[in-house]
Order: sequence, then C-alpha cells, then structure tokens
Amino acid sequence: VTFHRCRQTGRAAARGIRRMPLFACCLLLAACVSTTPPRRDAGFRPPTTIAVATTLAPPAMDPELEIELLSKFKTAPALLRVAHLQLTLRRSKHAIDACAEVLYGPVKPSAHDEAFARYLRAEAHELAGNPERGAFDRERAAELAIDFELRKLLAAKAPPAEGAPVASPSLVVQPRSAWSARAPDRGNVEPMTAVHRVTIHHSALAFYDTTPKTCAAQLQRIQKDHMQTRGYGDIGYHYLIDPSGRIWQGRDLRFQGAHASGSNNVGNVGVCLLGNFVRGKAGQAPTSAQVQAMRRLVGSLMQRYGFGPDGIHCHSDFKATDCPGPLMEPVVASMVRDLRRSGAQALAAASALP
Ligand SMILES: [Zn+2]
Repeated sequence: VTFHRCRQTGRAAARGIRRMPLFACCLLLAACVSTTPPRRDAGFRPPTTIAVATTLAPPAMDPELEIELLSKFKTAPALLRVAHLQLTLRRSKHAIDACAEVLYGPVKPSAHDEAFARYLRAEAHELAGNPERGAFDRERAAELAIDFELRKLLAAKAPPAEGAPVASPSLVVQPRSAWSARAPDRGNVEPMTAVHRVTIHHSALAFYDTTPKTCAAQLQRIQKDHMQTRGYGDIGYHYLIDPSGRIWQGRDLRFQGAHASGSNNVGNVGVCLLGNFVRGKAGQAPTSAQVQAMRRLVGSLMQRYGFGPDGIHCHSDFKATDCPGPLMEPVVASMVRDLRRSGAQALAAASALP
C-alpha cells in the first residue's frame, strides 16, 4: 500500500515540476514589475575578474553585507572574493569551502583561477593553524600563477632561505576563556559596524606582572569594573596587552566597544595596554614587548580592515584625558610615523613596477 501511494505522490510531484517553469516565469515577472523600495545593495556589482586589486582588495563595505550580496553569484570571481572576505573575518573554514567550490565545482577552473583559489586556501589553512596543510596549495599556486601581483605575494610568503631572518611570529591572541571572562550582557552591547579605526588606551592601573594567572585576574578586575560599576555590557576594550606582550581578547569584535565615549566607539577597535603610563613615581613606561605586540596587532587590524595610519588614535584624541598616558603617546606617534613612511615606501615600490 505504501509503495502504491508513493508512486502516486511521485507522479503528482512530477506533474507539479512540469508546470514549474511557467509558474516561475510569472513570479519573476511579478517581482520585476512590482515597485520595490531602494535596497542597501542598490548598484552592487559582483566582481567579474580575479586579480589582487579586486579579489584581495579590502572590504568596500561591511564584509558581512558584501558576503551576503555575493552569495547570489556562484562565479569564480564572486566565490574567491567571498573566500577573501571570510579570511578578513578570520573564518578559515568558510574561506576553504568557497575555494573548494571553485576548485571542484562544475566548471574546471583556468590555471589563473586555480592559482588564486589555492593561494587563498593556503592562507585559510595557515589562519586555522595548519600551515602544513596549505603547503601543497601554495606550491601549486606558485607553479600556476601567471599574475604578476599574485606571484609577488607568493614570493613574499615563500619559506625564508637558510640563514635569512625568521619572519615575526604570527599574532597569537589569548581567547576569552583563557581569563574566564564573564559572558557579555547581550541586551547591553551593540553590533560592531565596519571597522575603520583603532584607539590605544592604558589601564591607568600600575601593573608589572607577567604571569598568565595574574594577568587574567587583572582582566577580570577590569571587566568587573566596566560591567558592575560603569554599567557596560562587557569589558570595554577589544584587546588588552600585558607587560610580557601577551595579547588577550577582550570584548568580541562582533560588538562595538565602550572605550572612547559615545559615537566615538563606532567602528573603533579598543586596545588597552596594562599599566599606568604617567610620569612620576606612580607611573611606569610600557615594556618593549608590549609596544611590539601593539604594533603587530595594529598592523594586522589595518590589513584586515583596510584602514590607514589616519585611523590610529589615542584616547586623548577624543576627549580631555591623560589616557594612554604621557609616556605612551609618543610611542603611538612614532608607530604612526613609521607606518606612514613604510606605506609611502610600499607605494614607491609599486609605482616602480613595469
Ligand atoms: Zn582610555
């Protein structure tokens, strides 16, 4: 009986499918003629080429929105753009999936497209902490790449020759679980919008300890102060750096910070160095490990979100405050100077290319 019924439903379904094209056309027509209000994606054009300047460009809008708009297009340029955006959001698995759609999709990729897909997948494996899994993709990308800009990127990532200086270690961030962070008060945090700046703070509390346990306790103390005394939804800063140069995840980057007052927090990543960088007996200078970690962190934020040295601020840029302290402000200024100089150098090198 069941078998018979199934066959009947099957036939009915088949009839339904045969009628679908006409029905779908009517729907489409109706959708076209109906007046729709202007949408956020009005004028959005998916990329049609695969190149470093387009595929790997910094997000032109909120990366989440760009991914959503691109999700309608299953072309190789759109998929690889998605892979890159997922990487900027540090979602290695999603990036790997998008690359796989190009590599193993219904259309066999050209050598050029495959080179980009493999390059991006290697980046994703590296981000996920599996550089060895990306090694083959990287080698293959180097064999296939014809694009000069991509070849340059691949050459920059090639393992250093013996005797060459070792590349700076990649950024390691201690997760919130490492300091037993309290969960944020979800009703009291706002989503983060497109990141375009970073602001440096000090904790204004003398702090010299470098043991993970004491640093974790200090972060808990700051979170408690922010949540209980100041009524914030979570610790105000997105990152905190202890005197050993260890970087800790504060507030999740998905949420706007509470560190620069009011609308100054919009699209603004808050970075706090533990210590009280004022002059005099009560003060201390930031350690060089702390400063190096800050420079690496700020550099990687600039790369990830595509903003320049103009996006780097001290808390004192926004209000009359000592923060991040007279001993810290010149350090930030010197970082900005170095970035402007190296940015200009990079520009000069690019314009000297054939
Ligand atoms: Zn501050």
